[in-house]
Amino acid sequence: MADVSMRVLIATRNDGKLRELRPVFAHVGLQPETLQEANIVESADEDALEVFDTFEANALSKARWFAKSSEGRVVFADDSGLEVDALGGAPGVCSKRWSGRGDLSGSALDDANNAFLQKSLEIAVAEGRSSRTARYVCAAACVWPTGELVVRAHSYGRLLNAARGDGGFGYDPYFYSDELEATFAEVSASTKARESHRGRAFRALLALLPSTVLLPQILLTPVDQSARAK
Ligand code: IMP
Repeated sequence: MADVSMRVLIATRNDGKLRELRPVFAHVGLQPETLQEANIVESADEDALEVFDTFEANALSKARWFAKSSEGRVVFADDSGLEVDALGGAPGVCSKRWSGRGDLSGSALDDANNAFLQKSLEIAVAEGRSSRTARYVCAAACVWPTGELVVRAHSYGRLLNAARGDGGFGYDPYFYSDELEATFAEVSASTKARESHRGRAFRALLALLPSTVLLPQILLTPVDQSARAK
């Protein structure tokens, strides 16, 4: 029998997001396939998918794009970012490329964004805006052959002056979570997912999906042979 357990696709190339999302999907019996695992080669067209000014529109744009080329698969995608009160809600949907360093990627881009964040906060303080409160936002989208759904969630905290922890990704070493009483970089991916904007958005999305969307994926998942032998 063909391995159809991997038919749910997550449209992201961000390893940090994947580490966080795997336990969320595993909780409902799904093992999502990544773009790399699906052999979907990165193309320049992907840069043009996140051009909208809402998280919801960008998440749907990504999910629709990959659904189009994925032969009837259920496709999940998200768009996320940081909103800083002292900066009037910036960087928001521009979080990924906020520093303007289009030449960088991965942790080098994260470092440049975090340096820009600290500089922006210093300027805000000098201008009399000393609040450190911020929130992460995530819109999680799902597109399937006969419908689509998008859900937004938040995670609240405040920004530190100095990095703490070496887990997570992006702005995590500076984001102190109100609920976890630690930065998102100081906790494991599964602990982060309990209170993160992304964990919350995907749990809500999965709970809201009509049962007919995921049922065939679960029923067609081959039974693990070692579990069957016990
Ligand atoms: P996108 O959702 O792929 O467009 O990326 C949004 C950007 O927002 C990321 O590249 C990070 O800079 C930032 N971001 C979003 N969610 C998180 C998070 O959970 N931790 C740290 N940074 C995040």
